[in-house]
Amino acid sequence: MAHSPTLPHSRLRSSGGTPTVLVIGGGASGNAVTILLRRAGITVDLIEAKPDWNATTGSGITLQGNALRVLRELGVWERVSASGFPFATLGIVAPDGTVLHVAEDIKTGGDDLPATLGMQRPQLQQILIEAVRASGATVRLGTTAEALEQDASGVCVRFSDGTEGRYDLVIGADGLNSATRAAIGIAERPEPTGMAIWRIAAPRPEGVERSDLAYGGPAYIAGYTPTSENTIYAFVVEACRDRASIDPATYADEMCRLAQAYGGAWPEITKHITDPKKVNYTWFDRLLVEGSWHRDRVVLIGDAAHCCPPTIAQGAAMSLEDALVLAELLTSGRDWDGELLQSYYERRIPRVRTVVEASVQIGQWQLDGVRDADVPGLIGRTMNFLKELP
Ligand SMILES: Cc1cc2nc3c(=O)[nH]c(=O)nc-3n(C[C@H](O)[C@H](O)[C@H](O)COP(=O)(O)OP(=O)(O)OC[C@H]3O[C@@H](n4cnc5c(N)ncnc54)[C@H](O)[C@@H]3O)c2cc1C
Repeated sequence: MAHSPTLPHSRLRSSGGTPTVLVIGGGASGNAVTILLRRAGITVDLIEAKPDWNATTGSGITLQGNALRVLRELGVWERVSASGFPFATLGIVAPDGTVLHVAEDIKTGGDDLPATLGMQRPQLQQILIEAVRASGATVRLGTTAEALEQDASGVCVRFSDGTEGRYDLVIGADGLNSATRAAIGIAERPEPTGMAIWRIAAPRPEGVERSDLAYGGPAYIAGYTPTSENTIYAFVVEACRDRASIDPATYADEMCRLAQAYGGAWPEITKHITDPKKVNYTWFDRLLVEGSWHRDRVVLIGDAAHCCPPTIAQGAAMSLEDALVLAELLTSGRDWDGELLQSYYERRIPRVRTVVEASVQIGQWQLDGVRDADVPGLIGRTMNFLKELP
């Protein structure tokens, strides 16, 4: 994507008229910011690269209270609650399934929300899609931005279908490999942490009512999380391997090979790891863009600005919080200028840095073979910090 920056740190919103915003990317962060800006009467166009808007893909997701707090703000909490599986503890288990420790999950979203809720990813996406549609945003699927040109009064965007649009502000919510981030000259890129995860959705074995994590065994971490009354997602984390060296047709065999060494609910889960197309293999990455998350009239949110391994399940929560804070600032009546966008970064960076560093540290302890690492202690300190409002 081409980009031409020209703008001084002046007002970004043309005076008078309804402000116009382009959101690039319809994941959790892009959908959330769209809903919130539309609620304030701002004109929002959302473009999403995937023709199906990712409505059917993905296994499960763990949403902590602080993510649920944003979903409640979006007006979708009742539907999320009806679809997901709430729980309040985390089990640390030995590879054979023996429970070693049960930690109380900290209620990062306040006492009136569950500490944690597991959910099927497609269900969450579908709920957010419906809320975006109801918000009155204009949505174009299968569309990307080919070029962004900024001048003193707006951003001119050329789309992949050959059309053009002009906006007061562009929000890059296009995830880990953000083309928007590259287009505005932010050089930071995600870096692999050295770990990779095998994931699958499966029926919920009787008795699985919270996340249980086994550290050790043939993999670094093996765990599962209930995502509804009838479903779970299960995952196994190992050292990352060259993707080209693993034939996708063997994905189920690869995951089974690791999973069958674990006890507890694993023998039941392993029976369902049969279809390689239903097994997902992903590397863990780390990214933290430093200094600012905007260039003139283009600002990043979510994984486009930061990402981390899901070792404390906070990536989507941070992305949703970004959307909430940015929308709050854009609808505060203040001028849309460089100062406002910098204050968005300043407000987000302490929380996001804490999450990224803790998430990477937990993985690094595993990679370094640190036996006495205080994983529950680090998770507890991080979650206590996240109880504060974003
Ligand atoms: C293995 C794994 C497990 C995870 N588990 C958890 C968890 O349990 N809990 C949690 O809170 N977080 C978890 N996360 C993190 C979470 O998935 C992300 O932080 C979150 O999805 C980021 O949301 P986003 O909207 O910023 O980006 P994304 O969800 O990546 O959405 C980006 C969207 O932009 C679209 N797009 C991309 N490029 C373009 C383009 N050029 N033009 C238009 N559209 C584009 C994509 O199709 C996509 O729809 C996990 C991450 C991984 C890798």
